[in-house]
Amino acid sequence: MGPQLPIYLDNQATTPLDERVLDTMMPYLRGSFGNAASTEHRFGWVAEEAVKQAREITARCIGAESGRNIIFTSGATESNNLAILGAARQYARKGRHLITVVTEHKAVLDPCLAWEAEGGKVTRLGVDRDGLIDLNELDEAITEETVLVSVMAANNEIGVLQPIEDIGNMTRAHGVLFHTDATQAVGKIPIDVDKANIDLLSLSAHKIYGPKGAGALYVRRKRPRVSLKPLQYGGGHEQGMRSGTLNVPGIVGLGAALERASETMEEEAERLRYLRDRLLTGVRAGLEGVEVNGHPQQRLPGNLNLYFPGVALEKLIREIYADIAVSTGAACTSASPEPSHVLLALEPEGKRAMASVRFGIGRFNTTEEIDYVIERLTRAKALRSLARRPVPSL
Ligand SMILES: *Cc1c(COP(=O)(O)O)cnc(C)c1O
Repeated sequence: MGPQLPIYLDNQATTPLDERVLDTMMPYLRGSFGNAASTEHRFGWVAEEAVKQAREITARCIGAESGRNIIFTSGATESNNLAILGAARQYARKGRHLITVVTEHKAVLDPCLAWEAEGGKVTRLGVDRDGLIDLNELDEAITEETVLVSVMAANNEIGVLQPIEDIGNMTRAHGVLFHTDATQAVGKIPIDVDKANIDLLSLSAHKIYGPKGAGALYVRRKRPRVSLKPLQYGGGHEQGMRSGTLNVPGIVGLGAALERASETMEEEAERLRYLRDRLLTGVRAGLEGVEVNGHPQQRLPGNLNLYFPGVALEKLIREIYADIAVSTGAACTSASPEPSHVLLALEPEGKRAMASVRFGIGRFNTTEEIDYVIERLTRAKALRSLARRPVPSL
């Protein structure tokens, strides 16, 4: 009797919907179907009240002063687009320069490319071998023309946590806006928009056991009051920044997912760290030369990205895919199976990008599953060149 297969270890790509979150959403998919903007009847009021509650929960979970700071969106991709293009277009008279980092998610990098196509300027900071930016480099990159700095809180591939409080201090001192894509961080590690001087923050429900298609953008309203040019026009919902009928069940699900993640954050982080360290220790006990990609300590509790030197990944994946779901780097750009731009940033020669696997451990993974994965990896034919002992024939 082993664990039930296949084992899902790709929780940085997406997470399963928590049953309790689904239960909270169900009434809004059934009888409470009202439009939150319908003010003349009970159907609308019920929906509006549910949205209001989710707004307050979302604000509370990131240390925002009120629900009025929250703009609901379809997910972090939209939130990032709205933050970056919305701010760049709104403040274009002040300057047209943005700063970001080469290891950002495509949902940040591509809006920055779009801004360049509109005639804007973008500086992309590099990272060191651990995946961290250099704060002095950031300081030097900020000019009179700079409007916004966008640096992610936690990387989706290698789990590295950037020093967002230091970045926020710096951007605040320079009087430029600070956006952070906190999609992988919210609900997993403490985030406080005031403590870190964050002006814009993106988050998404489906990375924290909520539904797909629901997310939010935090927009600071005081010191400074940030305004954004909308990406789409219509009924003027969400303070005119994001028109369109609200996805009430999705928003309720986002609130429920955030609430649950915040309540259990500390103990869950400890549990995930334990599983991650167990996986690393187990793999290293059986295989030689395996290295961790990204900073060894400054990283998400549930993320482990491993480099298997000299190994042909397609062979490994072919051997395990039926039983273990992991990602070989670029899951978030899966439309194009190119080597990961994040791993290439750590090591430009590309050896890591060609031979690394991301293990995304989440809420529903167990010790038994981790032990099964260790066993399968240390016995894998594709990893035989790294095996410490001769692999016994099965
Ligand atoms: C998943 C992810 C996104 C995209 O979020 P969606 O809600 O799927 O649009 C953006 N940034 C990071 C860091 C992510 O992990």
